Amino acid sequence: MSLENTSFENLDLNPAILRALEEAGYVTPTPIQAQAIPEVLAGHDLMASAQTGTGKTAAFILPALNLLATPHPSKSRGPRILVLTPTRELAGQVNDAARKYGKFIRARTVSIVGGMPYPLQNKLLSQPLDILVATPGRLLDHMERGRIDMSRLQMLILDEADRMLDMGFMPDVERICNALPAERQTLLFSATLDGNIGNIARQILRNPKTIQVAAQKEKHANIEQRLHFVDDMNHKNKLLEHLLIGAEVNQAIVFTSTKRHADLLAEDLYAAGHKTAALHGDMTQGARNRTLTKLRHGDVRVLVATDVAARGIDVHGITHVINYDLPKFAEDYVHRIGRTGRAGNMGVAVSFASHADRYQVRKIEQFTGQRIEPTVIEGFEPKRPAPRMDGPGERPRNGKKPGGGYKGRSQGAQGYRGDNQNRSANPGQSFGDRKAAGNGSRQDAGRGNGPFTAQKRNEGGRSNTARRPRTFG
Ligand code: AMP
Repeated sequence: MSLENTSFENLDLNPAILRALEEAGYVTPTPIQAQAIPEVLAGHDLMASAQTGTGKTAAFILPALNLLATPHPSKSRGPRILVLTPTRELAGQVNDAARKYGKFIRARTVSIVGGMPYPLQNKLLSQPLDILVATPGRLLDHMERGRIDMSRLQMLILDEADRMLDMGFMPDVERICNALPAERQTLLFSATLDGNIGNIARQILRNPKTIQVAAQKEKHANIEQRLHFVDDMNHKNKLLEHLLIGAEVNQAIVFTSTKRHADLLAEDLYAAGHKTAALHGDMTQGARNRTLTKLRHGDVRVLVATDVAARGIDVHGITHVINYDLPKFAEDYVHRIGRTGRAGNMGVAVSFASHADRYQVRKIEQFTGQRIEPTVIEGFEPKRPAPRMDGPGERPRNGKKPGGGYKGRSQGAQGYRGDNQNRSANPGQSFGDRKAAGNGSRQDAGRGNGPFTAQKRNEGGRSNTARRPRTFG
């Protein structure tokens, strides 16, 4: 089948799902959907590299819903589909997508994430359900308390698996996998399939089909990337104000490196008359949800956010992403700029960098395979001319490696070497080994620390004690 001519009608989806797609206004499947849906419907395990913005959510939710169209013989009330996501926001979006596309097949969908009250979640879990969308830590809490019957689980989906690895959730994911029925279909979606993610995928998945959409270099064609060299904070603030009052900005996300900085900058921008709100992991889930709703409704025009909190935000009105502070990791740059240019719109991604930041800029460019053009706005010129960014192997004068400890987390398409590379994956590890997986009882959940342990970050996780401050520079 030629993918260019694929329509949803010839993907063999249930008519009730096609009806929901028609209602959503979707005419043509995106490349990841056209490639993934037939493989999943054919019953294969799948590992797919696809960034957010490619339509990856529907690529797994549609065939998952298709499975629900056939009733399950078991009388059990537990989920038939489990989707694991790294963050609460992403869980919310997957849940919304499942509700939207599953409207006419009456899929019962529940989202279980950290930061929400247990009694409410206990009540939700006591009812019959079809799709469970969860962050790993909170799900494991409930599983260990015996609150979820996984006996009729047919499909496990790991969404943004690379991010779950980065955030230190893989030991939890491992325990969850080990407590699920071995006879299931497993799908893994990740921005990259290199490095440890590839090793993990090989252990969780059984004879998977592999799908890679568009190489890294070809992505973000609809996002204009600009770089402004700045002298100091004062210069940064003036530039930011100039950009935000520009008529071409509909809505913007401004990224800072710390939660505290996000709060302070949001206060300043609010005081300057911008409809501003902050979004970061120290806020309660309720407050985060309210902020996102305001953003979606246009009641917030400028969102000042940290990386993890903003991941997965899908608001079509966001025309600009502004990196007030550069991201610490090159991967985060890609996730940040992906908040704009959604659903085929054009977007602008602006980064502020000091001269000392030029090595970070270079790392980002190496990761994306794209140059970020230094730009100067008349009246806002930096005192020092922009440094040369094109010298091979550019190094600071002290001869040390560039970047002052600037590290990537996982290997990107352009051979960007992340620190996860130092944690070698052990091929003997029984991560999610479905041959070893037992009857789904919680005793089956292995307790050993696998080689995939990364330091746990603070969002979507189960414990606050393992928090790592996201400070930078
Ligand atoms: P995702 O990559 O799953 O975050 O999806 C990105 C955006 O594309 C979301 O706003 C979806 O609603 C939208 N979308 C997904 N599939 C399609 C499609 N086939 N046609 C039009 N829009 C789509």
